[in-house]
Amino acid sequence: LFVVIEGPDGSGKSTVAEGICRHFKEKGVDVIHTREPGGTAISEAVREILLDPKNEAMDPRCEALLYAAARAQHVEEVIRPALAEGALVLSERFVFSSLVYQGLCRQLGLAPVEAINAFATDGLVPDITLYLDVPEGTGKERMKDRLADRLESDKKITDTVEAYYRILAERRRGELSFIDASMDAEQVLSAAVEAIEKEYR
Ligand code: C5P
Repeated sequence: LFVVIEGPDGSGKSTVAEGICRHFKEKGVDVIHTREPGGTAISEAVREILLDPKNEAMDPRCEALLYAAARAQHVEEVIRPALAEGALVLSERFVFSSLVYQGLCRQLGLAPVEAINAFATDGLVPDITLYLDVPEGTGKERMKDRLADRLESDKKITDTVEAYYRILAERRRGELSFIDASMDAEQVLSAAVEAIEKEYR
């Protein structure tokens, strides 16, 4: 089963992913916990380029292609092989993030970003996408003490990303499992586990 966790920066993706991972491992399920951009040596190298504050001149199309390139490697090297072995694969972020950041925040449009990602993933789509829904402002507040990467220090992104997450999530409600991520961590985790268990039998 391929499970993706989405939500703006500071919505708690890593915390809930760790909790889900622990829960299913304790039940004897083979779980692979991974993240994007990253998850393989090549993809982590691309991540370094993407997040390096020195690369402020990066063109939006270059950015979109690099996220997609990192994803292609991640899909082929990690996700597909693990799924073939029957593992539960848990990825923090996937194509939805690119639609929000590059499609909407960078104004490349959803269609081209979908197209390059259909190529990058060779058509792989998640079985479940958990959407961590937080009121606007929560993410920013939770992120304020963290060191910002290139995207997080770019006002074009930080001023718009939370609103775009909401807009796209509303538009794609049918493809997402909404989790109220303003609850405390324990409650968020049990809602997430419940959503996965409905599919994973
Ligand atoms: O979630 P994580 O902090 O690992 O994401 C790394 C950075 O990449 C974040 O600043 C996030 O906003 C950005 N990002 C992006 N486009 C994507 C995925 C992540 O700009 N498609």
